Amino acid sequence: MDKIALGIFSHPDDAELMCVGTLSLLKKAGWKIHIATMTPGDKGSAEHTRAEISAIRKNEAAQAAALLDGEYHCLECDDVYIAYDRETINKAVEVIRKVRPSIVFTASPNDYMIDHELTSLVVQTACFAAGIKNMEASGTPFEMVPHLYYVDPLEGKDKFGKGINPSIYVDITDEIQIKEDTLACHASQREWLRKHHKMDQYIVAMKEFAAHRGQEIKTNYAEGFRQHLGHSYPQDNILKELLGSKVVLK
Ligand SMILES: [Zn+2]
Repeated sequence: MDKIALGIFSHPDDAELMCVGTLSLLKKAGWKIHIATMTPGDKGSAEHTRAEISAIRKNEAAQAAALLDGEYHCLECDDVYIAYDRETINKAVEVIRKVRPSIVFTASPNDYMIDHELTSLVVQTACFAAGIKNMEASGTPFEMVPHLYYVDPLEGKDKFGKGINPSIYVDITDEIQIKEDTLACHASQREWLRKHHKMDQYIVAMKEFAAHRGQEIKTNYAEGFRQHLGHSYPQDNILKELLGSKVVLK
């Protein structure tokens, strides 16, 4: 098994908000980190054109990945229009075939935004479809189905406001600074929120939620996950095996 982890999320900054602390722990354990986003974040600006903000945000995402000595990939879908269709699934298969990860992280299947929910479904399918020779996607088939983990939804709740409880907590107390540093790379989003909230809401909200998850396992900061345990996916909890006492199961 190669020590390669891949986070595939909808938008630039999703990985940083939800799982970069855990990616940092994996990096320290000798893993190579890749972060992919379905879109370049083309709707995330009130002042730039789509092309301008896409270029800015891909650059920010690449800088954030670089802080983990990682690589950034963009699947070039469009914000708000992420679809569960053959073109999108093939793009996700291609990035998995290229990176060949043993662990994949993706969005929660229940979240505040449909982009996240459809990304979650696309990645679920792509993880096993990457090994299917007759897929239309390019690249060498990757037959090993990776361990698949879903991050918390934004604010830890579904669209009805009901809490979604993680079954796996990772203590990221020692990684909170790198999490803040990677999030701060997304300057275009940080400034936008600063203007609207008159405070550094971007970093503040991230830390508050990580502290909330931390409290649930009696530590300072944590990230929460659920593992995909459907048929054909790995059943062992590789995060627990790799990160030991940093991982608390509920
Ligand atoms: Zn997002």
